[in-house]
Amino acid sequence: MDIQTNLKEVVAELPENVRLVAVSKFHPAEAIEAAYAAGQRIFGESKEQELSGKYEKLPKDIEWHFIGHLQTNKVKYIAPYIAMIHAADSYKLLAEVNKQAAKYNRVIPCLLEIHIAQEESKYGFTFDTCREMLRAGEWKDLNHVCIAGVMGMATNTDDTAEIAKEFHSLKTFFDELKKDYFSDRPEFREISMGMSHDYLIAVKEGSTMVRVGSKIFGERIY
Ligand SMILES: *Cc1c(COP(=O)(O)O)cnc(C)c1O
Repeated sequence: MDIQTNLKEVVAELPENVRLVAVSKFHPAEAIEAAYAAGQRIFGESKEQELSGKYEKLPKDIEWHFIGHLQTNKVKYIAPYIAMIHAADSYKLLAEVNKQAAKYNRVIPCLLEIHIAQEESKYGFTFDTCREMLRAGEWKDLNHVCIAGVMGMATNTDDTAEIAKEFHSLKTFFDELKKDYFSDRPEFREISMGMSHDYLIAVKEGSTMVRVGSKIFGERIY
């Protein structure tokens, strides 16, 4: 297993307009350094403490993306430096990001996590709860948050038609939100979808950002 070879393989398959978030969670700083040496600059993490440790240690031109469920009480630790939060799944979380980002005079790009899989999940907006949140309009006052698009995870299955259908539903929903709420906001442009086993399907369905971990870094040891 060679991280740099894996990384180059994944990058070679991506169209130019699709960005790669290399998901380095549970892998040591040395693994990130190897990918960094091969040119990768965007890394995804899902645990605040692990991320903060790596942030301290690693080059400052890395763009750190928080990809997992984010608890409101952790926002303050990452607010000074986080480049994007992929899984904003409540207005309450957006409001907390806004409050913490204001302390550093930052505007933090956030994606709205939408639950598209068949599997049960505690996290993510449904299409309807997301529409309601946007319709309520309070998000427009969050001057330190930039809603930059949507994020979703497909069902963990070998049924590629099902995966394609779910990604397609996220793209369709993105288009709806763009038209209804963000037509005058060019920053609303990202569709974060696709992981190691399904990123090529996601790209076909309109992904602008894929989050690939094990295909680059190998299996994670929990
Ligand atoms: C872990 C994780 C990934 C990467 O998963 P792989 O299957 O290792 O590519 C992508 N997105 C989220 C939200 C994750 O938690």
